[in-house]
Amino acid sequence: MALTAVTKTQPPEILAAALVAGQRVFGENRVQEAQAHWAGLRRSVPDLELRLIGPLQTNKAADAVALFDVIETLDRPKLADALAVAAHKAGRTVRVLVQVNTGNEPQKAGVLPEGADALVAHARGKGLKVEGLMCIPPADEAAGPHFALLRRIARRNGLKTLSMGMSADYGTAIRFGATHVRLGSALFGERNRPERPSMD
Ligand SMILES: *Cc1c(COP(=O)(O)O)cnc(C)c1O
Repeated sequence: MALTAVTKTQPPEILAAALVAGQRVFGENRVQEAQAHWAGLRRSVPDLELRLIGPLQTNKAADAVALFDVIETLDRPKLADALAVAAHKAGRTVRVLVQVNTGNEPQKAGVLPEGADALVAHARGKGLKVEGLMCIPPADEAAGPHFALLRRIARRNGLKTLSMGMSADYGTAIRFGATHVRLGSALFGERNRPERPSMD
């Protein structure tokens, strides 16, 4: 089980403290903020692993491919196509997770559960390395059934990585087989600026 430390909105001294403590796997929501946080540290921290956990616009696919090791928020065929083009140009294989909107929430990113198999197949067909699935359960529901659903979809697609569980529900996520929990406030305290909805 891996801990993804979510450093969105955090100041540089928090990043530095996490690195000194030995943390190497980090999650960021926005491409631009992630560049500001990490681009300069890449060389001095060669074993850094950066994971994009926020929505990605197709016009930022190349920037995302250049910076991130794993993109956890693949949620539509068009984005898979853009990532495949960017990967080809960069001469790289892109590792992705498919984000599943397990609660069918209209305001939330992610492919609907019934579309997940097709998107996994599409992304594989484009040459992306699909490693697993990611979800953010509805805030007002028990998370367990959502994690169970994500695990079922992963199993029938032969996928191993399950990125699920945040500060409020990571214990449940681990019981349901999470391979990656994404923790922000549980590690660093409350964030110092409110989250705006963003389309990075
Ligand atoms: C911010 C964020 C997290 C971390 O949230 P906490 O509740 O602070 O642990 C995890 N996953 C995603 C997708 C996020 O946007």
